[in-house]
Amino acid sequence: MKSGQYRNERDSSGTTPEGAGKSSGDSVFVIQEHDSKKLHWDLRLEMGGVLRSWAVPKEPPTEPGVKRLAIPTTDHSLEYADFEGEIPDGQYGAGTVRIWDRGTFEPVEVDDEKGKIIFRMYGRRLSGVYCLIRTKTRGGKAQWLFFRKKVD
Ligand code: MN
Repeated sequence: MKSGQYRNERDSSGTTPEGAGKSSGDSVFVIQEHDSKKLHWDLRLEMGGVLRSWAVPKEPPTEPGVKRLAIPTTDHSLEYADFEGEIPDGQYGAGTVRIWDRGTFEPVEVDDEKGKIIFRMYGRRLSGVYCLIRTKTRGGKAQWLFFRKKVD
């Protein structure tokens, strides 16, 4: 079984195995593509018993070199990580929610004072070390950048 052997070799070399998403890391993340008034991606990380959330106006980057704006939004309950479907007209966020990526992550460095969250993602689309960095506050609202680190 060549393909099985190949996978085992990759596992032991410490690189990301194929079919990541079911891998290590015990906290859940989800990215929901939200086709609301304005299309955006909701990045949610399980931290402190809730899903900390950021709205990312452009598609999240799969490769290093692309930085995305990420605007903090309301914490959601952990169950919301499974949500896909329609939010009815008249309700906040009315539109369609699709799970764009989902998996687990391991915190690498979390510094809330500085606004710095570095974590290793094990998703189907996003895998590798990612950073969420608070950059500035505009009109009382914090702005963060979300990007993949150059060296995993
Ligand atoms: Mn949203």
